[in-house]
Amino acid sequence: MMRKMNFLNILILAVTAIISATFTACETGRELSESDFKFDGPLGSDGAVIEKLETNIFKVTLGHAPNQPEWNNKLNFQITGNAKGNDLVLYVEGPPRYAMNEYFYSWSYDMENWNPVHWKAGHRISPERDTLEFPVFEQDQVYVGHQVPVSYDQIEDFITSINPSESVSVDTLGKSLGGRNLYRVTITDPSGPVAANERWVHYFSNSHPGEHNAQWRMIGKIEWLLSDQGRDKRQRSISHFVLMMSPDAPSNGWYRVNAQGVDMNRSYFPEGADKEKQAHEPYIFQRDLEMIMESESPVTTLWGHHTWGGIVEPLLYYVEDDRVGHWTEWRDIIRELDPDNLIKPLDIRKAMPGYGAVSWEAGPHEQFGITTVLCEGAGAIYTKEENKRSGRILIESLAKYYTGTKTD
Ligand SMILES: [Zn+2]
Repeated sequence: MMRKMNFLNILILAVTAIISATFTACETGRELSESDFKFDGPLGSDGAVIEKLETNIFKVTLGHAPNQPEWNNKLNFQITGNAKGNDLVLYVEGPPRYAMNEYFYSWSYDMENWNPVHWKAGHRISPERDTLEFPVFEQDQVYVGHQVPVSYDQIEDFITSINPSESVSVDTLGKSLGGRNLYRVTITDPSGPVAANERWVHYFSNSHPGEHNAQWRMIGKIEWLLSDQGRDKRQRSISHFVLMMSPDAPSNGWYRVNAQGVDMNRSYFPEGADKEKQAHEPYIFQRDLEMIMESESPVTTLWGHHTWGGIVEPLLYYVEDDRVGHWTEWRDIIRELDPDNLIKPLDIRKAMPGYGAVSWEAGPHEQFGITTVLCEGAGAIYTKEENKRSGRILIESLAKYYTGTKTD
């Protein structure tokens, strides 16, 4: 009997200690509050409203894209402090179009190392409301964003970091409506023996700004080109990169649009760029592409980078070309370079009814009669490294398929 009492006393003491510790934690304000969340940083979400429901449980109501009341803005935000020791549950609601929860999100303490977080229900079951649960955070500041996020400022920092290379030139073609620079980066090694007009020319773009995995795929291509492995390709090709056609988007959470609310991949004018009728940024980029096509080094292949579900899925708007093998040889090269199955077999794009050649893949294919690639997928590739690796494989396949020079 005495022994039992002792045990009970210890238990009571322990419970009291736990309760008092919890109480102290509350008293020192350690749990998250609405004011800890910031929706207007470099990764932001215009119009998002947050409301506390219970301890570390919040409801977020998403805003919508300009002139598109049905198109939700993506859930990008920062916890500016106070996160350490707290977990977090978010009930998220948003307008229905392009479901807010079609893709995974990521969280990070430093905007560099990202961890995937997955929706509880998914867009097939519940496209307008869903739940994200985060683990107990170990640091006070946390960033959250769509897919594996990248802000415009980080794209600009990346361009600045590669610019010193003698193989890199950066053209600022104009400003976005929000005043940000519109960049085209060109990679070619001037010291090679092949004249500019004999080099293969590739043009790589990203029109949908919230499809960040596609941007990492392009960065993987650039990193490969600038590596030792890419030297031969660099010396017999010219590669143009437009990493983000709508640079005002990441700070607003816009998924597909610019400040005018124009779907950036329905913005191409196959009959020619039109300053009066075309959206602002698309006009600047299309006019620039038309000038490249009129130069002594016109584009051989053009790529539009996107995301949809599954692994990477490159689809061809194909034009037969005597200077290279049949496209199925290219398909086989990719397969051989991809032991981890990051990329589906290259295939021909089936005709899409419903809209004309207004995409940045069908449009240039029709306007210039060149092979273009709709490079889709990667919604199921959850890390920056794997997204970049898929890009390295694709650019290496170009090096192997487009052998020699244009005039060999
Ligand atoms: Zn897209």
